[in-house]
Order: sequence, then C-alpha cells, then structure tokens
Amino acid sequence: MSPDPSRPHLRAILFDLDGTLYRQSPLKKRMLRELVTVPLRRMAPFEGYRTVRRLARFRRDREALRDLGRPDESLEELQYARPAAALGEPADRVRASVLEWMHERPLRHLAAARRAGAAELFRAARSRGLEVGVFSDYPVDAKLAALGLDAEVSLTLCATDVEVNAFKPHPAGFLAACERWGFAPGEVLYVGDRVEVDHAGATAAGMACALVGEESAGHPDHTTHDALRERLADRG
Ligand SMILES: [Mg+2]
Repeated sequence: MSPDPSRPHLRAILFDLDGTLYRQSPLKKRMLRELVTVPLRRMAPFEGYRTVRRLARFRRDREALRDLGRPDESLEELQYARPAAALGEPADRVRASVLEWMHERPLRHLAAARRAGAAELFRAARSRGLEVGVFSDYPVDAKLAALGLDAEVSLTLCATDVEVNAFKPHPAGFLAACERWGFAPGEVLYVGDRVEVDHAGATAAGMACALVGEESAGHPDHTTHDALRERLADRG
C-alpha cells in the first residue's frame, strides 16, 4: 500500500516515537557520558558498570519478547522479570534503572535531538484535518511533551498498555489505535524508522508505512518528515 499522505481517503497519521521523532545517536552518547560521570559523583564507581549491564540485558530480553506476540502474561511485568531472573536481581532494581536511564534522564536532551520537520509535519497534518497519534513500544506521553510535540496529538498508545500487550511487529497496537479513532487501517498512515518492526507491523495491520531515519535508507518507502509534509499540500 502506498505511504503517500496525499491519498484522499487518509484520515490520520500514526507515528512511532524513538528514532522517528528524534535522533537516537546523540542521545545515546549523552547517556553513556552520564553513566560514567553520575556514579562517580555518587561515590559509587561500579554502579555505572552494573547499570550498563542491566540495561543491555533489559534491551536484549525485550527484543526477544517480540516473539511472544500477544501473550497471556503481562509484558509490563515480563520485561523486568526476565532480565532480573537472568541477572539474579530483584525486578524492582531493573525497573528503577530503566526508569532513570531510559525514561527520565533522556527527557531533558530530547528537544535538541528532535528530527527536522517533525513539528511542521504534525501541524500540517492537523491543519488538513488529519488526526495525529503516536504508538510506540515504550511509554509515549513524557517524551512527547519533552519534544514539544504533544499539542497536536489526539491519541497516544504504548505496546505495554493493557489493551495492547503486544510489541511490534504484532498488529494489535496498530489496530487498537484504529479502533480508538474509529478509522479503518487503510485510512491511517504509520511513520516509523525500523523496517522489521514498524513496516512489518503496520503492513500486518493493513496500514501503509513510511520510513524515516538513517536505518531504513534505501528502502522503497523511505522518506523524510519534510517530504511527507510537502505531499500533504497536494491533498485536495
Ligand atoms: Mg523507533
């Protein structure tokens, strides 16, 4: 299906967040720097190493949880329980590190890493009567506000929300967004950055998908926020 936003029957654009609305590489560099300096300031030099190990395990196990599809168990719990068991630590310790280093500390750096054209695309979509939403595998609201992109958004959804409980590329989250808006998948365009996660998931849900960012360069559906905004201008 064509990811062209000038299609006349399009009613909404749904965005991925990490890597799509901001560039991840400058943020990762800042976090690595803080992982060295913050434990030293706290007089706990080994804490940095333990945190890096914990976050790496969390990320790896979370990628593997994609294979579960939509399980009976809660992904919100499993995402901490699995790495905690592997590391021999309480799940609360993994959760605390993830909250601090993946959710809270990045917030103050997000605005500087925002992708060019994202805010303009959000505004252009709204001014043309399209709904704008964000569906991510990670919690959306705090990051979206830190990016200064929350004003135009009528729907936010996370893969670990109870109504979804499925990481991409499972179609559940994409379809939950459609259901909330009352739109058919063919009326929604998804914009993401990962071929095997975003493009595959949107396609499985019957949604067109445009890809932005360096990782998907060369893909036939690769584009930019600015190019999408320019195509919106062609809507009748
Ligand atoms: Mg992403």
